[in-house]
Amino acid sequence: MKYIFVTGGVVSSLGKGLTAAALGTLLEHRGLKVALQKFDPYLNVDPGTMSPYQHGEVYVLDDGAETDLDLGHYERFTHTKLTRLNNLTSGQVYQTVLNNEREGKYMGKTVQVIPHVTGEIQDRIYMVAEMTKADVLITEIGGTTGDIEGLPFLEAIREFAQDVGPNNAIFLHVTYVPFIKAAGELKTKPTQQSVAKLREIGIAPHIIACRCEYPLEKEVRQKIALFCNVPYDAVIEAKDVDHSIYEMPLMLQRERMDDLVCRLLQLEVPPADMRSWQEIIRKLIAPAHRVRIAVVGKYIELQDAYKSVYEAIIHGGIANDCGVQIEKVDAEQIERDGAERVLKGVGGILVPGGFGERGIEGKIAAARYAREMGVPYLGLCLGMQIATIEFGRHILGLVGAHSTEFQKNTPHPVIDLQEEQRGVRLVGGTMRLGAQPCQLLMGSRVQQLYDAPVVNERHRHRYEFNNSYRQAYEEQGFVFSGTTPDGRLVECIELKDHPFYCAVQFHPEFQSKPDAPHPLFRGFIAAVHEHLHRKPL
Ligand code: GLN
Repeated sequence: MKYIFVTGGVVSSLGKGLTAAALGTLLEHRGLKVALQKFDPYLNVDPGTMSPYQHGEVYVLDDGAETDLDLGHYERFTHTKLTRLNNLTSGQVYQTVLNNEREGKYMGKTVQVIPHVTGEIQDRIYMVAEMTKADVLITEIGGTTGDIEGLPFLEAIREFAQDVGPNNAIFLHVTYVPFIKAAGELKTKPTQQSVAKLREIGIAPHIIACRCEYPLEKEVRQKIALFCNVPYDAVIEAKDVDHSIYEMPLMLQRERMDDLVCRLLQLEVPPADMRSWQEIIRKLIAPAHRVRIAVVGKYIELQDAYKSVYEAIIHGGIANDCGVQIEKVDAEQIERDGAERVLKGVGGILVPGGFGERGIEGKIAAARYAREMGVPYLGLCLGMQIATIEFGRHILGLVGAHSTEFQKNTPHPVIDLQEEQRGVRLVGGTMRLGAQPCQLLMGSRVQQLYDAPVVNERHRHRYEFNNSYRQAYEEQGFVFSGTTPDGRLVECIELKDHPFYCAVQFHPEFQSKPDAPHPLFRGFIAAVHEHLHRKPL
């Protein structure tokens, strides 16, 4: 087993996760089995309790773990299956250590950051190595070198690398090389300093990936090599990509990062054949068609809150050779200006997951507009609940229909708390989470798209369709096209006389990849495209 540790320097948001994931793509294409893991130095047990303003999207795994969004990159860029072991936070480490202490497992010793906390971190590396049986395990350390809270993680990986010996573990440092306009040049000092900071704690990086907005000239590379103690070819240019994050593996390949990694780790494998990946990029850069999709949410000003949704839409585009322009629409703007004004001209409307009351009426108006105007609609989780409320209010005439999440005393609780959720007091990790089977209605649109009778999809919700309204809805043409195998929980709904109106209680966006677009997103974009072309001018 070989280990690659990815650290970050100078500033956050450098795309360490993407770099780790893109390296994973390249190594997989060289025939290696790759596993990826993320360490997060914050004290939350998982990001599930954090606001999107703090953290961006919460990415859900098959086993129900609520994880960092970098795990989404890992799953999109590689074919590795992740579990809750693949995302370790300081909160989890301390929780375990303190529980062990209470159980007397330390046999009277003083419990300390070194060796107990670091030992717990190292155990996790070995556990993932053991569980995945991968050839290479890439471990990304969250945060920036120099942060106090990251120190135990860095000490842990330093010791770990020492333990497994040279040629078995390498350090890849992702850093920033800013362009200073006034001087008209790229500056290497921040990189030098962050590498010095790493060396201070005993880590000497083998490879330095330099994020930059302009090409790294020879002199700049030489300078970084000289002052950071790495060979010239270990200074990698990681320039901003022009069109898509999916260009990253190709960019790193041009820089020969994977060759270097294989050389350092003594992995004898053929070069990566990236032709299929190049075809994906071709479709992204020069698609045969173009469509415009509105995503109606309340965190649209944030880059990362709907990360997987945006990515899955793009994948749906790839599947249809269709470039997708994503219009990020603030649900509250619809409340102010009306759906017609805000949404006129978009090819499709998507309402993603969400919590809390803000913007709900705007989302309902968007779903209504889609239904009435025959605009393709895809609802995800909250987006299905929204479609349900809308249909109840305007087709069934259920005045004041709502979800009890937003209005406790609604006369028509068409969306209500799941039975299992009643009495749940703790907030963290207590929703209906992870992959659950969903039985599809034969001949329905979703069933045809999936081309399977039963599918497994990931969940993260507390509320559900209220079954006492099922018959009334059905009578009005609301199709329940997916349920749990026991028929109890509604999982998918759709409308018949509509170009495409589907909504699901789960999160299909978590299982879409550029080279394996999710069927629902593929179908949604196909419907948008067809609908646009069928429309009279
Ligand atoms: N807030 C809703 C629920 O808890 C929807 C959750 C979601 O969209 N992820 O059921």
